[in-house]
Amino acid sequence: MGLETNRKLSGIGASEGVAVGSVFVHAPGELEPERGGISAGEVEGEIQHFKEAVASVVKSLGETSQRLADAGNDNEAGIFEAHAELAEDPELHSSVEERVRNLESPESAVISVGEEFAAMFAGMDDEYMAARADDVRDVASQIAAEIMGHEASALATLDTPSVILARSLAPSDTARIPKGIALAFVTAEGSATSHVSIMARSMGVPAVVGAGPGLETAFAAETVAVDGGEGYIITDPSPETVVEFEDKQRRMEEERTALDEYRHTEARTTDGQRIEVSANLGSAEEAEDALAWGAEGVGLFRTEFLFMERPELPSEEEQYEVYRRVAEAFGGKPVIIRTLDVGGDKNLPSVDQPEEENPFLGWRGIRMCLDTPELFKPQLRAILRSAAHGNVKMMFPMIVDAGEVRGAREIFDECRKELDEEGVETGPVEVGIMVETPAAVLGAAEIAKEVSFFSIGTNDLVQYTLAADRGNERLHRLQGADHPAVLKLIGMTCLAAREAGIWVGVCGEAAADPALIPKLVRLGVTELSMSAPSIPRAKKVLSEI
Ligand code: PEP
Ligand code: MG
Repeated sequence: MGLETNRKLSGIGASEGVAVGSVFVHAPGELEPERGGISAGEVEGEIQHFKEAVASVVKSLGETSQRLADAGNDNEAGIFEAHAELAEDPELHSSVEERVRNLESPESAVISVGEEFAAMFAGMDDEYMAARADDVRDVASQIAAEIMGHEASALATLDTPSVILARSLAPSDTARIPKGIALAFVTAEGSATSHVSIMARSMGVPAVVGAGPGLETAFAAETVAVDGGEGYIITDPSPETVVEFEDKQRRMEEERTALDEYRHTEARTTDGQRIEVSANLGSAEEAEDALAWGAEGVGLFRTEFLFMERPELPSEEEQYEVYRRVAEAFGGKPVIIRTLDVGGDKNLPSVDQPEEENPFLGWRGIRMCLDTPELFKPQLRAILRSAAHGNVKMMFPMIVDAGEVRGAREIFDECRKELDEEGVETGPVEVGIMVETPAAVLGAAEIAKEVSFFSIGTNDLVQYTLAADRGNERLHRLQGADHPAVLKLIGMTCLAAREAGIWVGVCGEAAADPALIPKLVRLGVTELSMSAPSIPRAKKVLSEI
């Protein structure tokens, strides 16, 4: 039990819902050895102890890998397989044994050796190898935790439903947590549009982010109550607080059930205007769930998650399989695949990305793709091929002018020509862009001549318009799409689109905001795409406009 019960800590409500559960602190690499040294008589026993700990960690990594593979998550399964191999690395073993023979405790030895290996990896020029530093640290701390009888710190092996507390959570961290295990996320850093928040919303897991450095005082708590809508947590809640949260949970459950009737309705305003409500997806596995929530299509398929956490780029074939799976799951409903948008806070071990002072203003999205045809072309080919199996559309992220669109389309046309020559089946693909930079809005009339639709990415549009980092918890005031400057840009986009005769959607987080939906529709938006659990409520709001 923490020092004080029922202590309240506020942050940003990033994903609705309440939860009460035991605390799991994700603090990678911060494990401290319990003992420094051992006596000479303990050496053999401690070496044995180390070997048993390794065997147990390898077993559990193998089980996780198998579970993920069974669920069709081959990428993630591969990560755990690689971790198991690292745990069994003979060099790691001999270095630990040597230290134990010199009377160092095995937990201290494995942490030190892990650090040495990590430093070696981190110093390598090869981007992929450098990214392995965290993996080796992760594996070493799992072995050390096992030796000390602690719960393993790795999120991936977590098997009791828990509230996850962390300074920050990378998209890859959240992706590794077994399904159904995270009751809620609470982070010190981040904002409502940072990627942990987006992922929490699509997983339907409550989240509070941006709780500030004070969150570390909550790390010692045993249980925590989380309100992801209001944006606060209560550490070691009293029995009365627990009851209060349970009541809230019940009420929200009832509200959710009441919204069920809207799931499969066609959203129409009271004056008959039809608005399409679609889902944002990050993987093919989410397709079935999204359909069950009532998605009328996919307004944004974030393909970058397919590229993350793996040493090599996914092949054209692998991408084709994924895109085809989504296209087929949605039948004739539109599926908008966004071409790779990495950079910013999403990095790829397989791409040689430079260190940048301002990654969000850096080599990101379409900029990287235009410069790297070997990265871009397999994706475009895979999209074209998947279009033979459904209603596939495609959009480019981070566009700033019509020249970029023409450049990307040129490569796209080249891909189609190549596939035709190879006799490979393709389908028609409408092309659009994400409007997420002020420059794209200012150039919308010219860009509209090149494309069939606009999809406004309010998350980035807000950050670039208000010059406010979307992940900085101190800038909460400047992270809303309801800022007049942003609404004005949305209006300008709609106007340019109407004049050119193309449609406009919104796929940023603003699309799910009940207070903003009426404004977006009035400005001329005809498609809203959001995390799937938000769909029924959005349809209800639309039906009342
Ligand atoms: C956006 O910027 O609004 C968007 C939808 O893209 P992402 O959040 O992936 O940057
Ligand atoms: Mg964006």
